[in-house]
Amino acid sequence: MKRICTALLVFAFSAGVLIAAEKPNFLVIVADDLGYADVGFTGSKEIFTPRLDELAKNGMIFENGYVTHPYCGPSRAGLITGRYQARFGMEINPTYSPYDLYMGLPLTEKTFAERLKPAGYRTGIIGKWHLGAAQPYHPNSRGFDYFYGFLSGGHDYFPDSVTTAFPLLLPNGNPHYSANEGCYLPLMRNNNAGEFNEYLTTALSRDAAKFVAESTAPFCLYLAYNAPHGPLQAPKETIEKYGHIKDKNRRTYAAMIDEMDRGIGMIVDALKKSGKLENTLIFFLSDNGGVTPKKGHENENWSNNGPFRKGKGSMLEGGSHVPFILHWPDGIKKPGKFSGLVSSLDIAATAVALAGGDTSGEALEGVNLAPYVSGAKKGSPHDALYWRVQDGVSWCVRTPTAKYLLENWGGTDTQLYDMKNDPYETTNIIDKAPEKRAELARMWNEWNSKNTANVLLQAGDYQKKRLQMYEELYQQQLKKAEKTQPTVIQ
Ligand code: CA
Repeated sequence: MKRICTALLVFAFSAGVLIAAEKPNFLVIVADDLGYADVGFTGSKEIFTPRLDELAKNGMIFENGYVTHPYCGPSRAGLITGRYQARFGMEINPTYSPYDLYMGLPLTEKTFAERLKPAGYRTGIIGKWHLGAAQPYHPNSRGFDYFYGFLSGGHDYFPDSVTTAFPLLLPNGNPHYSANEGCYLPLMRNNNAGEFNEYLTTALSRDAAKFVAESTAPFCLYLAYNAPHGPLQAPKETIEKYGHIKDKNRRTYAAMIDEMDRGIGMIVDALKKSGKLENTLIFFLSDNGGVTPKKGHENENWSNNGPFRKGKGSMLEGGSHVPFILHWPDGIKKPGKFSGLVSSLDIAATAVALAGGDTSGEALEGVNLAPYVSGAKKGSPHDALYWRVQDGVSWCVRTPTAKYLLENWGGTDTQLYDMKNDPYETTNIIDKAPEKRAELARMWNEWNSKNTANVLLQAGDYQKKRLQMYEELYQQQLKKAEKTQPTVIQ
């Protein structure tokens, strides 16, 4: 009886009949470092993603869909809280550090899972967490009933491989400091070791399919693939399917996306079979743009963000304009493309609004997309979207018609684009539109006045300081040992 009650959300008296609508389910699928043009629904002819393309065709394609940061950890912090991560100073990737009670998504923030649980939801996260590894930051402490995956920022894809993609020493002999410490650890299921006996993307998909099939309460599942993030690893037979791609890196990367697409198909089939597909909102997006070559990393050539410029890390469109769709048969009357500005922040806002979730605490900053995808509301959900990296070493503001940005990490290379007529940012009009520049600067300053300073250290700096601290403590102990007389017993 209790289960039946929690499954009922809306009672509407219509034509004398009491109608009970079930609460919708939420499946939020995030790919990692996926290039904008590397799925079929954004135009790829090289990489095959039939299951995603089917969801896109029967759902809504957000043509102007963005994440809030051009790389992993901060982007995920924005998505999972529904708040700009600069509001709470998380502008750096958290380092995997299971004994550090300060390293992770600040505990002042609520995840969307925490907001949905009081509304009767079963909540799960499968895959990459990357929001802190000490117990207070563990998914089970942040509103998730269920966790299967890894706490760090990356992971090997094969259970028996020892990766060479995250070498412990750089070519110059210096240690490689990475946010991805922990990528060799066993997978976890809640607080225990979890099994890991097949290709990782398939293992995560299989577990997700099981989660959605067995959920009897309304569910919210956050499925965070690490695919197609490095290390570039895929089953041999899938790589062979991409013989038409000459570059070896891109061939493997294509196979990783292929495996992800098939995994998503497995979950969609489980939803269909259990009669939940119609009433499930499936969001799919990437956490940032695809990796593009930088100086000294010329071999990082595998992704394609075309038609956008640059990629992961950049304030240009390639950094945070991502493939982004919503599939929801019960809520989308007419499938198609949506051109208004949509943000990853909108996922939490939509879910909490539809579920009747907890809105206490810090205010959600996204927009409920349900009336936009149903056609009830027109126009752009956002008047503007904002970005800030590490206290403003680079920044950006975008409106439906214009974009103003600083690209080069603390330099003075400001750029202004007419996004209506030049959406691919070919012509910098910074010197031609001083009023527009001033207007956008005012907007960004107003937004930034409500932000707080970044509180985390980059993984390399963090680990150097941690090693220094251990070194100092060790030297103190040595001195103490020198002075200590040996114990003599009688
Ligand atoms: Ca990423």
